[in-house]
Amino acid sequence: MPGKRLNFLVTEDHDFQRRMLVRMLRGVDANAIYEASDGMGALAILQDPSKPVDIVISDLDMPGMDGMAFVRNLGESGVSVSIILASALDRNLLASIQTMAEAYGINLLGVLEKPLTPEKLFPIIARHSTLAARLPHPTDPVFSLEEILAGLRDGEFEPYYQPKIEMATRRVSGAESLARWHHPQFGLVAPYAFIPTLELQGGIDTLTDTMVDKTVAFRRTWAAHDIDGSVSINLSIRSLVDVQTADRLMGLVRAHHVAPRDVVMEVTESALTTDVGHTLENLARLRMKGFGLSIDDYGTGYSSMQQLIRIAFTELKIDQSFVANASRQESARVILEASLGMARKLNICSVAEGVETQADWDMLVQLGCHTVQGYLIARPMPCEEYLDWVKKWTQSN
Ligand code: C2E
Ligand code: CA
Ligand code: CA
Repeated sequence: MPGKRLNFLVTEDHDFQRRMLVRMLRGVDANAIYEASDGMGALAILQDPSKPVDIVISDLDMPGMDGMAFVRNLGESGVSVSIILASALDRNLLASIQTMAEAYGINLLGVLEKPLTPEKLFPIIARHSTLAARLPHPTDPVFSLEEILAGLRDGEFEPYYQPKIEMATRRVSGAESLARWHHPQFGLVAPYAFIPTLELQGGIDTLTDTMVDKTVAFRRTWAAHDIDGSVSINLSIRSLVDVQTADRLMGLVRAHHVAPRDVVMEVTESALTTDVGHTLENLARLRMKGFGLSIDDYGTGYSSMQQLIRIAFTELKIDQSFVANASRQESARVILEASLGMARKLNICSVAEGVETQADWDMLVQLGCHTVQGYLIARPMPCEEYLDWVKKWTQSN
C-alpha cells in the first residue's frame, strides 16, 4: 500500500550495524522498528501478534540461527512478510541465496551487499509498496492458463490507451497500450488477473503479438484523424529470451505499414533476466530498427538493469509508487529526483506515471520531468474514445 507507514524488523548480531540500520530506517518514516540479534529472536517477534511486521531486514552471517536457517524457518512458518537480506558475502553467493529464498516461497525484496547505505536500501524498501499494490485483489477471479489462452483465441482481449502529455507544451506525445480482457462472464478484467499466469506458465508471446498487432493497426488510423505521436507497448522481459522476438515484432509492425520510430517498447526492470545475451541482442536489434525503448517501472528493479541502460534506451519511465509517495516520503522523493537526474544525464526522455493530482503535476514540473501519464490526465480507454479525447484535449490546451 503506497504511503502506508511500515513496520520493520532488523535482525543483525553486530550492535553497531544494527543501530546504524535502525537510524537509517527512521528516514523512511517507519511506524515501528523491532530489533533481534539472531534468527531465533526474529522468529519470536514474527510470531508475536502484538508486533506486526511488514519488512524484515536480516543479516546472513549470524551466530546461533544464521540467515539461511532463518529464511528456511520463515518459509516453513507461513508468516507473510517481505524480506531483505544483507551480507558481506560476494555477489555470486548472494545470487544463489536469492534463488534459495525464492525456492522457500519467501517474498524476497532483494539481497544487498554490505555495507548498507540509504541509496542501496531505500529503492528495495520501495519495492515492497510497489509489490503490495500489484498483488491481485483477494476477490478477483482466478483464471487458468487454458482459460486465458481460450480468451485470446476468441479475440476477447483489447488494448486500452492512456495518453502521455509533454509537460512543457501540454501536447499529447502518444499513448500507452494496456491489455484488457472483455470476459463474457466477469466483464472487464485487468492485467493482474492474467499477466502473471501468462508469464509464469508460458503464453505471454500470444498476448504480446495480439497487443502489438491491434495497437499498431490502431496507430495506422491516427493520420486520418490528424493525430500523431507514438504508441507504447509493454514487452515482457521473458519474451526477450527468444532471439527471434525482435524480428517477429518487426514483422508485425511492418505488416501495418507503421514506422518503428512511432512505436516504443516498454520493458520492466527485472531480476528474471535469465539470458542476458539474448535479451541484449533483442533490445539492440529493436533499437537498430528504430523502435523506441523505455525502461518501465524504473527504480523498483534490480541493478542488473544497469547493463541494459547501455543499450541506448530512449525513455525512462519512473514507477508510480515514487510519484505517489514523493510528497510525504523522503526516500521516494530522493529516488524520483535521482531518476530524473539520470534521465537528463543520459539525455533521454523521462516519463512519470501515476500522476493523480495537480500537486503531483506541479512537483514534477519543478523537478524537470519531461512527460507525464496518469489519472489526472485520463484513465486508459478504448480506441474510439481515445481519438475523441485527444481532439478535445488539443482544442482546450
Ligand atoms: P504499467 O506498464 O506500469 O502500466 C501502468 C499501470 O498504471 C496501468 O495499470 C495503468 O492503468 C495504471 N495507471 C495509470 N495511471 C495511473 C494513476 O494515475 N494512478 C494509478 N494508481 N494507476 C495508474 P494496468 O492497465 O492495470 O496494467 C498493469 C500492468 O500490467 C502494467 O503496468 C504492465 O506492467 C502490465 N501490462 C498491461 N498490459 C500489458 C501487455 O500488453 N503486455 C505485458 N507484458 N504487460 C502488460
Ligand atoms: Ca508500461
Ligand atoms: Ca510502470
